Amino acid sequence: MGLPFIQAAKIGAYVMKKHITGGKYPLVLMLEPLFRCNLACAGCGKIDYPDEILNQRLSYQQCMDAIDECGAPAVSIAGGEPLLHRDMAKIVQGYIERDKFVILCTNALLLSKKIDQYTPHENFTWSIHLDGDKTMHDSSVCLDGTYEKAIAAIKLCKDRGFRTQINCTLFDGSDPERTAAFFDEMMAMGVDGITVSPGYAYERAPDQQHFLNRERTKTMFREILSRGRGGRNWNFTNSGLFMDFLAGNQTYECTPWSMPLLTVFGWQKPCYLLGEGYAATFKELMDGTEWEKYGVGKYEKCANCMVHCGFEGTAATDAIKHPLKMLPILMRGVKTEGAMAPDIDLSNQRPAEFTFSRHVEHKMSAIWAGKSNTTQTGAQEIATAE
Ligand code: SF4
Ligand code: SF4
Repeated sequence: MGLPFIQAAKIGAYVMKKHITGGKYPLVLMLEPLFRCNLACAGCGKIDYPDEILNQRLSYQQCMDAIDECGAPAVSIAGGEPLLHRDMAKIVQGYIERDKFVILCTNALLLSKKIDQYTPHENFTWSIHLDGDKTMHDSSVCLDGTYEKAIAAIKLCKDRGFRTQINCTLFDGSDPERTAAFFDEMMAMGVDGITVSPGYAYERAPDQQHFLNRERTKTMFREILSRGRGGRNWNFTNSGLFMDFLAGNQTYECTPWSMPLLTVFGWQKPCYLLGEGYAATFKELMDGTEWEKYGVGKYEKCANCMVHCGFEGTAATDAIKHPLKMLPILMRGVKTEGAMAPDIDLSNQRPAEFTFSRHVEHKMSAIWAGKSNTTQTGAQEIATAE
């Protein structure tokens, strides 16, 4: 399990330094420079916006300012579909020049058209969206033929010498046997890593039935990992302790600021998954968010959350505080049998607040008044990108 040695060592040194100096710090900047996508997946919570918002873009300069301001060692670029952004190659290059690790997440539909704009680099990784084998993936993204395009894109990236991984979201009903076989197949194809996540329960996603609750998540990950020597058969980019958490062996509270998200709305409060408010600057996000109000057991919307953007930061801190915890995972893999760690009590969580419409109205008013700080992309530019 893990990242390339240089990447892991640099991020480890950063975490150690931040841990010693104390305070809250980000691990990975999550960047969504546009919401527009050329797919319409049932589990997506990003594309249900009016066209005026889907046409907004973060500029190159806003993307650079974000990393300079937050100081994270790595950036994960998603969306929407990042390859629809006309400055994406320039943005990637800007981060590489700042010695940041860049993960560019794409559904791969435009990859063969755009790949010539990119150059292999040790700090740059393509992350291809692939939610399982052909049947699983095409069903997840609601379009036949997408799996073949993603596989062709992986081969193209590998042939061109790029570091290439897949990101795989697993929803309720994912069959452990097929998922394990799919991971075997990806390893045999030579992908450099698999990032796995339980489906995010986006409140705006069209399909609300297939998100996993915590019990199902833990059982499903145990069933999958038990088919691959506790996960040791597969090169996950997720940390060992995070995988251990997914399999129900750790009681973790989230660290929502560890992977802060910047979108065309601003810095999202409190985390990648929940948009309860927006801040104009990273400092305002860190200083102005009531962090104590969020997390499993504190807020109803958090009840089922086990996503990496909330809990990888917790796992990283745990690894620093208790390095020996990693040993059994490295030697024997993630434990997939026996009693699970106790879960957090949900009886005192505060009820959900519904804030989505307010944010959309606010952004729409700013666009109509010509006061939006993000740039508008016209239909012609979108057509050219595609
Ligand atoms: S590819 Fe990603 S951004 Fe596009 S619709 Fe699917 S989940 Fe949403
Ligand atoms: S538990 Fe809540 S606050 Fe924490 S990462 Fe998950 S959704 Fe965000």
